[in-house]
Amino acid sequence: MDTDRIRFNDLHVHEDASEIAAAIDRVVRRGWFVLGPEVEAFEHEFASACGSTAAVGVGTGTDAIALVLRAMGIGPGDEVVTTPLSAAYTALAVVMAGARPVFADIDEERLTIDPRAIEAAITPRTAAILPVHLYGQAADMDAITAIASRRGLAIVEDCCQAHLATCGGRPVGTFGAAGAFSFYPTKNLGALGDGGAVVTGDSSLADRVRRLRNGGQRTRYHHDEFGVNSRLDELQAAILRARLPRLRGWTDARRTLAHAYRAALDGAPVRVPRECDPGHVYHLFPVRSADRSRFQQHLEAHHIETLIHYPVPIPRQPALADHHPAPCPVADRVCAEIVSLPLYPSLPLTAVARSAAVVQELGRQPRGAR
Ligand SMILES: *Cc1c(COP(=O)(O)O)cnc(C)c1O
Repeated sequence: MDTDRIRFNDLHVHEDASEIAAAIDRVVRRGWFVLGPEVEAFEHEFASACGSTAAVGVGTGTDAIALVLRAMGIGPGDEVVTTPLSAAYTALAVVMAGARPVFADIDEERLTIDPRAIEAAITPRTAAILPVHLYGQAADMDAITAIASRRGLAIVEDCCQAHLATCGGRPVGTFGAAGAFSFYPTKNLGALGDGGAVVTGDSSLADRVRRLRNGGQRTRYHHDEFGVNSRLDELQAAILRARLPRLRGWTDARRTLAHAYRAALDGAPVRVPRECDPGHVYHLFPVRSADRSRFQQHLEAHHIETLIHYPVPIPRQPALADHHPAPCPVADRVCAEIVSLPLYPSLPLTAVARSAAVVQELGRQPRGAR
């Protein structure tokens, strides 16, 4: 094994191994696996950690977005304005709800949806704005809430990369009708499998999502409408309950590592996106390189793994070709240059220093001479 290698992420269970084993054991001994006491307890604990009143556990973050849109009555004939720079699942969720994603370009500093572009994308069919708090940093929610209230539009927040993030001191997921979270293993709060949640301060919206996630059942075996089967299972809920108390500490660790990267990358031949809000939770640490393939090759040669988030702007995904989405030039430019460095809570500071030193070396190497 290459012990020197700096992995992009590390999903091994470390300091919380015994709590996780105990949680799994508890569920196995209880013999209750779907929609039981662990999910209910996690929903309360997670809502409270998010500064909200209700959470509904669902199967994935994608389902969380799709189900909240459906629960709000957003579907066929409606448009949802969202960002071209995100996991394509954001747009997939809009399509799953039966609505049409419309893309508003990103702000080049913040890398989240540009409020001025939202204004330009609004049509009489627009039903909601779906900002994504990308890489752990909130979108410009002051400007977005102002537009939404002026134009009478709903907001649904994609918080899948932003557990515990705040914007101007206020928790993400509390600005609009609801926030959608993912507990995919690589997220800031990750399960040992898939999971997601809708967080909302609106109890009737929470109730409708609760019905929709469970086939649409109103009471046992009675369906006024059909929903889907998308439930957070008891094992994952118990694991998430075991991990939730550590999330604050893990977030602090991410911030410490990110600030160390910022200091060590000063003067390096890359552009480090600005921290626009101290509530950033650093799900990822992307930088921009004008010659990204050379950048990645150089880091790989020094055994440092990198990944691209994301190589293709969503409107350019062939899957959306039938939707004829308008291109977004800023997102096009960013997607061509962005590349993420390793950052996760158990990453040692020495690894950050080594990665940054290897990036700095790139500036001293004349192009072509290697
Ligand atoms: C991970 C992610 C999703 C999808 O979450 P899943 O749990 O994988 O379905 C949606 N949006 C963003 C921004 C994400 O990072």
